Amino acid sequence: MADTVVAAVRTAPRTTELREFPMPEIPADGALLKMEVAGICGTDVKMYDRPQITEPVIMGHENVGTIAKAGRQFVERHGLGEGDRVFVEHYVACYRCEWCRLGEYRHCEATDWRANPDARRYGYTTCEHAYHLWGGFAQYMFLPWNCVIHKIPDGVTAELAGIATPLSNGIEWALYDTRVGFMDSVLIQGPGQQGLSQVVACKQAGASLIVVTGTARDGARLELAKTLGADAMIDVDSEDPLERVRELTGGRGVDVVLDCTAGAGVTPVLLGIDALKRRAGTLLVQGELAAFPDFPIKKLTEKAITIKSARGHSYRAVELALEQLASRRFPLELLTTHEFGLADTDRAIRAVGGEVEEGVVHVSLLPWLE
Ligand SMILES: [Zn+2]
Ligand SMILES: [Zn+2]
Repeated sequence: MADTVVAAVRTAPRTTELREFPMPEIPADGALLKMEVAGICGTDVKMYDRPQITEPVIMGHENVGTIAKAGRQFVERHGLGEGDRVFVEHYVACYRCEWCRLGEYRHCEATDWRANPDARRYGYTTCEHAYHLWGGFAQYMFLPWNCVIHKIPDGVTAELAGIATPLSNGIEWALYDTRVGFMDSVLIQGPGQQGLSQVVACKQAGASLIVVTGTARDGARLELAKTLGADAMIDVDSEDPLERVRELTGGRGVDVVLDCTAGAGVTPVLLGIDALKRRAGTLLVQGELAAFPDFPIKKLTEKAITIKSARGHSYRAVELALEQLASRRFPLELLTTHEFGLADTDRAIRAVGGEVEEGVVHVSLLPWLE
């Protein structure tokens, strides 16, 4: 093993530098992950544009790799060690609080970078902290005793496992948060990797009508939505989405709306409120906006709508996502469209942001790709 590790470090907004770090000494309760795939999502695009953590950061929070070195206590605690391929959640947990006890590591204060300046979270924590390797855009990542890892089932490639995060979110938001189930009708707004993952979760859950919206430039993604099981696709640039939803549901509206758009402002929420059925529908929101001027709260309460927040995934949702991938029931390999090496990290993030490349659905960063 080399003495140094190469990593792509975000040093300023929209600026990446390749840096070398010393290979860390692994404590008895820690491990070293040899990175295989770091998935890139819309959050990376936002954090790259306007970093909220100004110290240098190795980004990459959707990480898959093989354990290269593991201390004795680490192996005892996790039941996983050298040679095991794992998916690493970006949450680094305390394992003591009520949320951790429930497998809801996403809510643990120890990983809440917004509220806790000393929080640890892969892709968010500065590389100035001890062990340095706190992000997936690197050849290796450090795994402390309190990382949250999942063994990847045999037969699931690293590339495929790279979409475990959007798929986990799909399962969390569609199944657990909004309770999509047998014969439900669902409107999924936005056909990116997250929207497409919702299609899979809703289809598997038994939804009878899955409608996906996109814009004029989403033609290929909407086609992919159809391949994965969506029943109807709407191009919001050329059709009136509300009228189409009413048509498709016999005037009734849908049971659930899932907002998976990016940068669309208030529009998807307003459409969601109108597209929901007369009473007691559920709307999942992203909360990209700091404020929502003229929010139609009267309409919301009159329709008895429940709003849920899109906020990551639980341990169980990740396990189900990995099982879903292993089942091969859906051609999910069609989502993994682009691969970049470490030297092209900047371009990879910009590809997700739609600045470069065509036909992007999911972008994988492969740190060892030359
Ligand atoms: Zn992400
Ligand atoms: Zn905790």
